[in-house]
Amino acid sequence: MNKKHFDCIVVGAGPAGSTAALTIARENMSVLLIERGTSPGAKKLFGGLIHRSAVDEIIPGFWERAPVERAIVTDELWLLDQTSAVKIGFTGLNYAKPPYNKFSVIRYKWDKWLADEAVRAGAFLLNNTVVRHLVTEQTGLKAKKFIGVELDNGEQVYANIIILAEGANAALTEEAGLRKPITAKNLSLHTMELYSLPAKKIEERFNVGPNEGAVIGAIGYPFAGAIGKVGIWLQKDTIALTVGALLDQIVTGKLNPYQLIIQTKKHPLINSLLAGCKLLSYGSHTIPKGGYDTLPQLFSNGIMVVGDAAGFISGRRGADLAMLSGMYAGETAAQAHAKGDYSTKVLKAYLNKIQDSFFYKDIKASKESSDYFHNYQDADFLITKTANELAYEFFHVGLENKKEKMKKMKNIALSIQPVLKTSEDLYQGVQHWGFF
Ligand SMILES: Cc1cc2nc3c(=O)[nH]c(=O)nc-3n(C[C@H](O)[C@H](O)[C@H](O)COP(=O)(O)OP(=O)(O)OC[C@H]3O[C@@H](n4cnc5c(N)ncnc54)[C@H](O)[C@@H]3O)c2cc1C
Repeated sequence: MNKKHFDCIVVGAGPAGSTAALTIARENMSVLLIERGTSPGAKKLFGGLIHRSAVDEIIPGFWERAPVERAIVTDELWLLDQTSAVKIGFTGLNYAKPPYNKFSVIRYKWDKWLADEAVRAGAFLLNNTVVRHLVTEQTGLKAKKFIGVELDNGEQVYANIIILAEGANAALTEEAGLRKPITAKNLSLHTMELYSLPAKKIEERFNVGPNEGAVIGAIGYPFAGAIGKVGIWLQKDTIALTVGALLDQIVTGKLNPYQLIIQTKKHPLINSLLAGCKLLSYGSHTIPKGGYDTLPQLFSNGIMVVGDAAGFISGRRGADLAMLSGMYAGETAAQAHAKGDYSTKVLKAYLNKIQDSFFYKDIKASKESSDYFHNYQDADFLITKTANELAYEFFHVGLENKKEKMKKMKNIALSIQPVLKTSEDLYQGVQHWGFF
């Protein structure tokens, strides 16, 4: 590479990195965006959904020109038991209308489009290149500042500010001393399969109109003894199925991720949704799940951490939070550039922006959830079992009078676990399940 010094280097062209690069390029600063994949998104998979309101702040009206697949008009959460499901869902005319609340996207299309937005604004994108190390300069006996990166060919490139947008595994964030080594307890592992089905069939099967989509999240089955989630998302002519659980519980429970997805596909309610589909691709990915107590130090002299590398996940919502954090880091880089000061004194503005954000407050508010689900790893399973057994009794009409039926239902709930524990599981569940 000819140019050796940039105002800013961003590592990783996912949603966080490309947004940081876009924000910086808009300020007429020079920015190098480095991606290890052959193109942005090539190494990524997710269901998944882009939530409009956050992304609209960054790229107003993005859905008019971005590669969105379907506008989501139906959201469902299934409490899945072995042969049944209690379905909580919402479809509404006030929801199913432009500009819509969320869109399904395919990552290799979305990430490429977003990185191209940054390039159009003036960023320089370097694909197929891994950043191996960070380059530092000693500024005192114990103090140092970050001044560049070392690429996989050994070349060093320099910048006044480095933004780490490297995703959940965050090896460079750890190398920078901003984060403790990541453990299985702080991650969830998700396997995903992508299926093709003609658009018309998708619309008939899920009862949605052309360009409209549905999303189904499920807890309970097949994760007895582990906290996990199933997700089904509709794209134009593909359906994504993901199955994932907390990684340490997968390990201690000796759960086989491949078996989990096979079991899920065999569930009668899911099997019928996938009938006649053709498997196109599969893969797996992690999500940071350590919560508030494991958030890294977000900045130091000449460096900031954004997106999944910073642990910004709330429920299953991460892509738009990654983009917002990328924007905040980009804005902070521009302030530092204007002042010619890249020290912690100026970069602290990034922390202030994050602390003011709705998602930081959410992550902080659910700080107990991670410990809770490690102490009670059967919580989702028990909630699901309770809900399904009660629903069966409620809907099944027999010969008892109403008083007898209520007593029977109360006894069913009590035979599974005390009412107080069920209420606590529900409360924690709402924090953890997120809203889809
Ligand atoms: C199964 C699944 C479903 C999900 N569903 C949703 C959803 O529906 N909605 C939602 O909002 N979020 C969802 N998420 C979360 C979302 O995917 C993440 O929060 C989001 O991708 C984080 O963006 P990021 O840019 O921080 O990191 P990433 O998207 O992980 O991007 C990091 C990029 O950095 C590159 N990189 C890493 N290290 C280096 C290096 N050393 N050198 C060069 N490049 C490097 C990677 O190749 C990658 O392109 C889901 C996640 C999973 C796993």
